Amino acid sequence: MKKVGIMGGTFNPIHNGHLILAQEAKEQFDLDEIWFLPSRRQPHKDSRELPEDEKRLAMLSAALEGNEAFRISLLEMERKKELTYSYDTMTELKEKYPETEFFFIIGADSLFQMHKWYRFEELLKGLIFLAAPRAGEEGIDKMKELAAEYGKKYQARIFIIEMPYIEISSTEIRKKTGQGLSVKYYLPEKVEKFIREKGLYQML
Ligand code: ATP
Ligand code: MG
Repeated sequence: MKKVGIMGGTFNPIHNGHLILAQEAKEQFDLDEIWFLPSRRQPHKDSRELPEDEKRLAMLSAALEGNEAFRISLLEMERKKELTYSYDTMTELKEKYPETEFFFIIGADSLFQMHKWYRFEELLKGLIFLAAPRAGEEGIDKMKELAAEYGKKYQARIFIIEMPYIEISSTEIRKKTGQGLSVKYYLPEKVEKFIREKGLYQML
């Protein structure tokens, strides 16, 4: 069975934290591919902070260029529904690719928020989760505790991705850019160039 890691996110913009997370998940869990699923823009919710889908996609493709194992899936971005849920994504992926085993890759902030997600229990039962530590969040011990608790309660399978704390976030990159500060080395060079040339995140 093919093993595919799913990286969901807004990717506004994609940065080296995302890429290191994806690569570590791939290596440590012997995944064949990683699919990046950019979330859809929600017209009523996201105002000027979120550039059009095409721009986020362009940055994503630039960042993944040259890595055969890293792909983009438009499953979430092209969904017509007003709101998109990981639960729907999981269901759709399983239907569409019955021969593939999926691993949901998340950072610690997502792990600690998961209980609020739509159909959280079913999501936990239906998927394997790979969770990485993240700066500013509770550490590995708390993550393991929660994984064990969910394991008992919901038969969840949550494994920890080992990686250094990488204190990079899209929020910080948008903020720095807005203040005219450099974000060089926070994200791939091509993405940085794109942000500069298109004047993204200038008016926050
Ligand atoms: P924003 O600040 O806009 O929320 P972000 O940097 O958190 O952006 P997202 O697109 O929200 O990026 O995150 C997608 C996924 O990647 C989430 O599961 C998040 O936890 C994880 N992630 C992002 N950055 C890191 C990082 N530096 N270390 C570990 N996980 C990360
Ligand atoms: Mg985030």
